[in-house]
Amino acid sequence: MIKRIYPQIQGEIESGEDVLEEYSRDWSIFKINPSAVAFPKNSSDICTLVNWASLENKNGHRVSLTGRSAGTDMTGGPLNESLIVSFSRYTNKIISIGDKEATVQPGCYFRDFDKATLRKNLIYPAYPASRDLCALGGIVNNNSAGEKTLKYGKADKWVKSLRVVLSDGNEYEFRGFSGKDLEAVMARGDLFGRVHREIFRICTENKELLEKAKPKTTKNSAGYALWDVWDGRTLNLSKLIIGAQGTLGLVTEATLGLIIPPKHSRLAVIFMSDMKEIAKVVDICMKFKPESLESYDDSTLKVAMRYAPEMLSVIGAKNIVKLAYDFMPEIWRVIRHGMPKIVLLCEVAGEDEEEIKSDLDRLKANLSGEGFEVRLAATEEEAKKYWAIRRHSFALLTRHAGERKTAPFIDDVAVPYENLYQYLPALEETLKPYRKFFVYTVAGHVGDGNFHIIPLANLSDPKVRALIPRICEEVYRLTVEHGGTITAEHNDGLIRTPFLNIQYLPEVINLFEEVKRLFDPLSIFNPGKKVHGDIAYAMSHIK
Ligand SMILES: Cc1cc2nc3c(=O)[nH]c(=O)nc-3n(C[C@H](O)[C@H](O)[C@H](O)COP(=O)(O)OP(=O)(O)OC[C@H]3O[C@@H](n4cnc5c(N)ncnc54)[C@H](O)[C@@H]3O)c2cc1C
Repeated sequence: MIKRIYPQIQGEIESGEDVLEEYSRDWSIFKINPSAVAFPKNSSDICTLVNWASLENKNGHRVSLTGRSAGTDMTGGPLNESLIVSFSRYTNKIISIGDKEATVQPGCYFRDFDKATLRKNLIYPAYPASRDLCALGGIVNNNSAGEKTLKYGKADKWVKSLRVVLSDGNEYEFRGFSGKDLEAVMARGDLFGRVHREIFRICTENKELLEKAKPKTTKNSAGYALWDVWDGRTLNLSKLIIGAQGTLGLVTEATLGLIIPPKHSRLAVIFMSDMKEIAKVVDICMKFKPESLESYDDSTLKVAMRYAPEMLSVIGAKNIVKLAYDFMPEIWRVIRHGMPKIVLLCEVAGEDEEEIKSDLDRLKANLSGEGFEVRLAATEEEAKKYWAIRRHSFALLTRHAGERKTAPFIDDVAVPYENLYQYLPALEETLKPYRKFFVYTVAGHVGDGNFHIIPLANLSDPKVRALIPRICEEVYRLTVEHGGTITAEHNDGLIRTPFLNIQYLPEVINLFEEVKRLFDPLSIFNPGKKVHGDIAYAMSHIK
């Protein structure tokens, strides 16, 4: 019946079984059947969809619009019951690439964007580990981050401006405004003017509360980033929309900063037998200002060794036999000393090859002096092997999990790295009673104190399902007690929105709800994410 009232757009609205099945899933533990999927051709189509949704809601028909780019979200972010707006079919173009920035539509895959910018010797440095799967729309709307974030920051640092369709059905450009420009924006009579005036008021009236609420970690995607919007001179609401998971509007275009990649890099691989020493190793590594400081645990390494040829083929390794042979040092190490508990990858990059070489030699000497085992990757090919383990282990696990499934629900905790020393053993203790039901791998961005804990679990077992909210609550409380955030980059979605009250005071949650009402009074955009989360609803939609 709802199909009859769909608006006329230049693109398509489809509701065939295959389409609905595809759009009912992302990479989370959830499955929600949408009523249909819209493939807009352009911004005008998106405005039409928003105007239609407003009118339907005003007439008492509950409909909503949920944006989706590549659908690799791990939180259930792009899933909803009503209309999904897919940016992948048409709105996927690179509009321009300049010397310092590029303008792109949300459905553009990162892998295509990267190839295009590399042709001009430029890269977008805040790409996630899902770089071969995800699109720019998701990177912006989740405020994603990755292996180079330690040096270059997250998406919020690289988004220069955004074009967004708001709930009044108009498209606006969001960027920083100050001085006379800001006065002019705030004086406008439209929704654009109103959101600027009201957010300015919220930020200034609640300055102290927001300063306290701002997570102390180097990365955060939990809640709305109200603390980053007003710096005393510039009001930049794009900071609020980045990472809002499409709950404040639909992003139609993003202008992103680019850098010239450093000419040289070298990788040190550190094998550790005890998690407790991690803060000490990170401290030593940080003195060398690494571009990346990543980690994976023994379970991840086991998966990688078991499926080595498949993993290496993913990176397009030319000589699989030789590269598989390259795993011999790891195998030999395991025979001699047992499986390392955790492996750290520390990459230093720059323009001067000799300087990097000498830095890494000193890093190795410092760490060896403290009794840690270090190996310097001799070639780029060898470095690729370690990066492949870090980047592709989750996808590999997902493919080979058997009746158990990868179950990301405590997948993105972070604490200030100085607190890892106390946090990691406490985390292990917290998870110990659940080992019977969940085997898990831990990989992460250790330099940012950010860990991806991915359990393998039989999600059809009711006992396992019942444990998920309990484990979330225990792990999130522990994380917040150690000064952390419940999500550094993957965002809130269905799985974490209900737990935001562990991280933020009720007054802050009230401000998030005020922001949502201000931008989206009829709750058209991606309802149930960022505010008004419902754990019972989420648990009843586990796939
Ligand atoms: C193997 C693997 C590894 C990963 N590694 C990382 C990692 O290292 N770092 C990291 O941050 N994440 C990681 N992720 C999570 C995910 O890939 C990223 O968040 C990614 O940026 C999402 O991009 P996407 O295009 O797939 O977004 P989608 O899944 O399509 O959407 C993500 C969110 O943005 C919203 N959205 C999408 N497009 C729009 C739009 N145009 N307007 C409004 N809202 C929109 C959706 O509603 C959803 O809430 C990983 C995922 C996988 C599967």
